[in-house]
Amino acid sequence: MITEEQAKKNITELLEFIGDDPQRVGLQDTPERMIRMFREMFRGYNPDEKPVITTFPNGQDGIIYDNMVVDSGTFYSVCEHHCRSFFGEYWFAYLPNPKGRILGLSKIGRVVDYCSARLQVQERLVQNVVEMLTEALGTENPPFGMALMMKGRHLCKESRGARKTGTMTSTCLTGAFRRSPEVRQEFLSYVEVK
Ligand SMILES: [Zn+2]
Repeated sequence: MITEEQAKKNITELLEFIGDDPQRVGLQDTPERMIRMFREMFRGYNPDEKPVITTFPNGQDGIIYDNMVVDSGTFYSVCEHHCRSFFGEYWFAYLPNPKGRILGLSKIGRVVDYCSARLQVQERLVQNVVEMLTEALGTENPPFGMALMMKGRHLCKESRGARKTGTMTSTCLTGAFRRSPEVRQEFLSYVEVK
């Protein structure tokens, strides 16, 4: 296990490697600041930070809900190939089982944030989120399917290398979203009207 002191020293060396002077005033506290920032940006490695995903029995509110539930929001992650940010918007949907459980809506965003807070590739990120939410709803009367689409801008593509602006789209579809073109189309219509 690397100590904070060693990590700071490594960052100082990197600052020197890029051609700057780590001792100049503006950079003196930079390694320290970067360590603090890393703790926040990479909290997804810390199991203590794992969000508790509240679920409710379907019907608890007096109605059984079995139509599509859709949530959308933003995400910020870091690409594992270049340690550069990628970020953008997500759209999540699931079809609750009338006999199963439903997700607390704010929890979806928290799971997206937690899974984003590691070195990632966008293809794995969509899977990590869907796996965590699937697990939270349990195997007894599971939902009829889940869908997650992420559209992200990748700074490793935009600010260096190819130097092209644009978004990358990745999706993870399970159950009815994978099998049924109608269900998939309904999900995509929510993405399009956004
Ligand atoms: Zn990259």
